[in-house]
Amino acid sequence: MDDLNDQINWLADKIYDELVLLRHTIHEQPELSSQEYKTAELVETVLNKWNIDYIRLSHSTAIIAKIKGNLDGNNCIGIRADMDALPIHEETGLNYASQVPGVMHACGHDIHIVNLLGTGYILSQLKNNFAGTVKLVFQPAEEIGGGAAEIIDYGVLENPQVTAFLAGHVAEEIKVGQVQVKAEEIMLASSRFDIKLSGRGGHASAPHRTDDIILAAAKLILELQCIPSRKINHIEPAVITVSSIHAGSRSNIMPQELVLTGTIRTQNNDLRREIHTYINDILTAQEIISGVQGGAVFKMGSGAVYNEPLLTAEFVSAAANIIGKHNVLLAKLPNNGSENFYHFAKRVPAVFFRLGVNPDPGQNREPLHSSKFIAADEALKTGVRVMTAAALAFLRKGPAMG
Ligand SMILES: [Zn+2]
Ligand SMILES: [Zn+2]
Repeated sequence: MDDLNDQINWLADKIYDELVLLRHTIHEQPELSSQEYKTAELVETVLNKWNIDYIRLSHSTAIIAKIKGNLDGNNCIGIRADMDALPIHEETGLNYASQVPGVMHACGHDIHIVNLLGTGYILSQLKNNFAGTVKLVFQPAEEIGGGAAEIIDYGVLENPQVTAFLAGHVAEEIKVGQVQVKAEEIMLASSRFDIKLSGRGGHASAPHRTDDIILAAAKLILELQCIPSRKINHIEPAVITVSSIHAGSRSNIMPQELVLTGTIRTQNNDLRREIHTYINDILTAQEIISGVQGGAVFKMGSGAVYNEPLLTAEFVSAAANIIGKHNVLLAKLPNNGSENFYHFAKRVPAVFFRLGVNPDPGQNREPLHSSKFIAADEALKTGVRVMTAAALAFLRKGPAMG
């Protein structure tokens, strides 16, 4: 460990209790996407207290703070945290559990906010030790695919120009104290579909006089599973999941309409459109064969989050230097989830890492988005150390790296 890492460790220890309190306060008052008002106010209060300059975007809860080092240099990097909670009723029984019925920080964004604040604090104390600028980006509405675009439109990537971006996300299957990363795609591309089937209804005792859209839906669901297995090279990751079906009212009535929704995940961004075409082809074929009319509406989600390989190597070395090599895990496969950090990562070389929050991954693995999901406070120790060390390493390397 070098001197700078000693200072980071010392400052992280010094601020830890305050960060835990902040995290509990945010966890107790979760706010849904685009409604992060109290959260943003708290972030502003803390930034003011620590004398960190920031701006709040107008008509928004987004906040961008800036910390400039006192040494000579113009490099600039960004670090992003998302702030929104989910419409889930918390059932953890924690003493700092949500006090808002039906809303919970079940995706760990409370940890993300405080990690970024803690990183800001440490960097603000180390201004004499680095050159360049770090922008801290507090993003609203990630869970509904929002926030990133308005922050980019505002111009976060310019003045000064950002040459690298960093973000982390909590992970329930990783031990607290550890981080995980991989070069290239780390989160998958997503899109969703809404399919409507319609046909003749009638009496359930005489299906031959109806179009039986229930049977058509059953065939369709099986047919959809043949897309990843038979239409796409099996080496190429692709997931199609039907996650809801709604139709019918009684056992003796054949419905006239059926609605089915689902999600698509791929590693290759363009593959989503190809899959949409296959789905449309299946619906057309089905209409010819059974008379059931089908229409699909597709909505593109985030593309795959791409970790720039050289920057990722820099992240791994900075993280290993501060938390130990054995605590920096390299993932072989991308995570199945998608993340709208994609919007930053497609414009600027970026690293998205996963942060362990589980004291005992062998036992308790309540997943993200579960009402019983718990993230250990100690993840803040790892988060602020790793993010600060990586930020300083990225600044030292500058734009040549990307
Ligand atoms: Zn989430
Ligand atoms: Zn999340």
